[in-house]
Amino acid sequence: MWANVIGEDRVKHILRNALEHEKLPGAYLFSGPEGTGKDAAAIELAKAINCTGKPRGLSHMEFEACDECESCVSIASFASPALQFIHALPKKSDDDGAELKEEDVAIVREQRAAKAADPYYNIEIPRAIAIHIGQIRELRLSLARSISGAKKRVVIISEAQMMNDKSQNAFLKTLEEPHTNTIIILTSSNANGLLPTVHSRCQDVRFDVLAVDEIRQALVERESLSEDEAAFLSRLAAGSYSRARAMIGENVKEMRKEIVTLLRMGLSKSRRNAALEVDKILPRSGGGKFLEKRQAVEQCLTLLTLWLRDALAISTKAESEIINLDQLEDLRKFVTRFGEPRRIIAAIASVDRAMHHAKLQLQLRPVMLQLVVELEAALV
Ligand SMILES: [Zn+2]
Repeated sequence: MWANVIGEDRVKHILRNALEHEKLPGAYLFSGPEGTGKDAAAIELAKAINCTGKPRGLSHMEFEACDECESCVSIASFASPALQFIHALPKKSDDDGAELKEEDVAIVREQRAAKAADPYYNIEIPRAIAIHIGQIRELRLSLARSISGAKKRVVIISEAQMMNDKSQNAFLKTLEEPHTNTIIILTSSNANGLLPTVHSRCQDVRFDVLAVDEIRQALVERESLSEDEAAFLSRLAAGSYSRARAMIGENVKEMRKEIVTLLRMGLSKSRRNAALEVDKILPRSGGGKFLEKRQAVEQCLTLLTLWLRDALAISTKAESEIINLDQLEDLRKFVTRFGEPRRIIAAIASVDRAMHHAKLQLQLRPVMLQLVVELEAALV
């Protein structure tokens, strides 16, 4: 059922039931950890609602998308007027206009195409740190116009917490207005960033982290990875299919080695060596491209978090939870020296902060150097 969405059986049942009994709300909030398929499920729902190719008489088939009819194909490629997919964009200037600068148009188009090709893809656009009020105004105008052909218009606001307060307040009006044949789906990996007034007007659907086995299987089936590679990446993915996918083709073991070396350099108070190590991590994947660099840094930080969590598992005698099974010896050595759980937890918090800053698109080198300082303060 709903094979394009990995795992999340509970969510699929909720959505299918709503479809079957025609109980779709005016607005949904799909919330839960990053990489669990919230956008994928929202797109799938848009297809299922509007599908015209469902075989009649086969009741078990009626509430899913056929993926072949014109409606399914055009929604999947983001070409259908029945689907509006809204996401953070760079700001043109200091006004609230949603119009893009010339140089951003191509990258936005490319990123949307990547998302359409793979709903688990995380859209990455430089300086796109908010969903602006201009985008919400445009949405409101477009909802006032009717569309032909579609059964129901579906508006997806991806990572809706990227709306700032101004945008959210404007959006609230849209939520309060009745729209015939329209369903609005907010997706969010940080629903705490939504105003309670917005949140309370949406029907909540929680997504769970994916099981290691669900990720492993999806990597084999969708990405044709070998069983070994899929098993390794699925453990490192920490429940996020997007994260697992982003690591495909990367030399993950090498990245992990570099980031753990950085940790060691920091702890041996060798700031100079740590700075050199930071430079080694930063120019990965093609040297200059900002986005690739940032993704590489985020991956490294994820690997470091998992490594530190393993250290915590050892120091709290929870060894069955260890992910980096091939690193046991190094982990044990680390724990002998820096194993106080309280300190490891503080170190993990500093990696979280660095991740947050990287996502805010701050300069990466200072973020990483600050991390080294914080790790030392936490652990030593
Ligand atoms: Zn169809």
